[in-house]
Amino acid sequence: MALDRLLKGFADFRLGYYREHLDLFEKLAKEGQSPKILIVGCADARVDPGILTQTKPGDIFTVRNIGAIVPPAQIPPDERQHGTSAAIEFAVRGLEVEHVVILGHALCGGIAALVDGDKSAFADYDYLSTWTAVAQSVRDHALAELKGRSRAEILRAVEQASVVNSVGNLMGFPWIAERVAAGKLVLHAWWFNFAEGQLYAFNPETAAFDKVLGLDVRPTIDRSTAFSAVRPERLIATIAGRPPAF
Ligand SMILES: [Zn+2]
Repeated sequence: MALDRLLKGFADFRLGYYREHLDLFEKLAKEGQSPKILIVGCADARVDPGILTQTKPGDIFTVRNIGAIVPPAQIPPDERQHGTSAAIEFAVRGLEVEHVVILGHALCGGIAALVDGDKSAFADYDYLSTWTAVAQSVRDHALAELKGRSRAEILRAVEQASVVNSVGNLMGFPWIAERVAAGKLVLHAWWFNFAEGQLYAFNPETAAFDKVLGLDVRPTIDRSTAFSAVRPERLIATIAGRPPAF
């Protein structure tokens, strides 16, 4: 049944969307892709970046993984398979995107598994905890600073702090730091709450996630932002100092 739905969807796509956008597909086939934006999103089935942003084929280069996580750069590069880093490298060095957006989200199962640690139902999986451990220090810090807060608040804090951590990790790739310094690349930490249909972006000035309203969004890191302002600990301190949002 589930596969029937896919095939029916593809048949509809061929007769509808594909035909309506024939010129676009022909252009993309002839000229190749030249997206200006890379989105690093979560593999979660509820948060498809293309649907959320209503973009067209060719508009965004996307890599999705568990938790919308960017691992630290491996310097010097080793012989291991760095799937997310390879996609980021191609987008930045090959396609020369102008923006990188890390798109975390509410009720993220990957982040919940990280927060629950040994108590997680997925603790004995082969790869999951090793992967989410990219944000282990963020999780530990949040748990220490937000003692007494509800599980929902802690999950949200780690979801958001992990996004900020991932943006920081982006700056560890030399070809990203160079392009940011040259004003060619801008980095964004976003968090999408699908329960309320609202997008938030990290504001390095207030160290908090602000609602994105209309077309007005502050970059998280551009050439004028002090990189030191973009630390997950600052966000957690902001959350710790605020009354619970629930
Ligand atoms: Zn997720």
